[in-house]
Amino acid sequence: MSTIGFIGLGIMGKPMAKNLLAGGLSLVVYDVVSAAVDEVVAAGATKGTSPKDVAEKSDIVVTMLPNSPHVREVVCGKNGILEGTKRGQIVVDMSSIAPLASRELGAMLAEKGAEMLDAPVSGGQEKAEKGTLAIMVGGSEASYEKVKDILALMGKSTLVGELGAGQTTKLVNQTIVAINIAAVAEGMAFAKKAGVDPEKVFQAIRGGLAGSQCMEDKAPRMFEGRYNPGFRINLHIKDLTNVLETSRSLHMSMPLAAQLMEMFQNLAGEGHETLDHGALGLFYEKLNSLSLKK
Ligand code: NAD
Repeated sequence: MSTIGFIGLGIMGKPMAKNLLAGGLSLVVYDVVSAAVDEVVAAGATKGTSPKDVAEKSDIVVTMLPNSPHVREVVCGKNGILEGTKRGQIVVDMSSIAPLASRELGAMLAEKGAEMLDAPVSGGQEKAEKGTLAIMVGGSEASYEKVKDILALMGKSTLVGELGAGQTTKLVNQTIVAINIAAVAEGMAFAKKAGVDPEKVFQAIRGGLAGSQCMEDKAPRMFEGRYNPGFRINLHIKDLTNVLETSRSLHMSMPLAAQLMEMFQNLAGEGHETLDHGALGLFYEKLNSLSLKK
């Protein structure tokens, strides 16, 4: 049976690693936070001492880290995966990072005979716990076939293209989600200012073309002022940074994504960076001196 390495045991990584253990897999785990490691070791995993150690002891290595610099550090830093990797190893990076970084790290691993797949997820902590994440995979079909059953313990995966394509798909998702939430907030603020109850507007239009999963989740939050995360604004800023850096390198214009970055920056500047991204409702409340609350 293959041994799986798992590096990055935060909000998402911890339940994902536990689902692999529950699926009967053998796991070697590592995180810079030792309490997180201890918790997953108590659930049946073996403790790794560094990314190098994890790579030496595993056939497949999964990483679930905050952003590109963290994945770079874990792959090519001192005692990194590159120092312990071997021919035929597959590194599945499930963090949301810049597509360019995925391709660069994949090239370094390929020089050692290993292969990288980028496999970012959508769904948040609850779906990570339930093993029902949406997983967007980039890389070779042959390597995807080898890890497909492992990914199935964490969610539903789709191979979308070459290495980097998974990250690009995630960035598309984050762009559309941010714009949708702002659209809901703008529409509801307009209703309020024009003297119509936003909650009645929501009930009237949710079944029509304007209805969406974003509206279903975020409109009630705006009416209740309930902005506990969820998906934190600082993570969405990180994703939009990757969107805009990528679009600028392609000389592509994304006016709406750029606007959303400004709105999130304003909220972060007001001290709201750890609130759910539905707090775009607060941005529109302040902009128009109104309250969306019931
Ligand atoms: P997190 O900050 O809770 O966890 C990241 C973990 O990585 C932490 O435990 C941290 O200690 C560890 N880490 C950082 N640097 C390290 C290093 N050099 N070596 C070893 N461990 C290191 O983040 P998260 O919420 O679990 O998110 C992980 C990724 O998943 C991010 O890219 C995020 O954008 C993405 N994501 C998050 C959510 C969500 O709802 N939280 C949803 C979808 C996708």
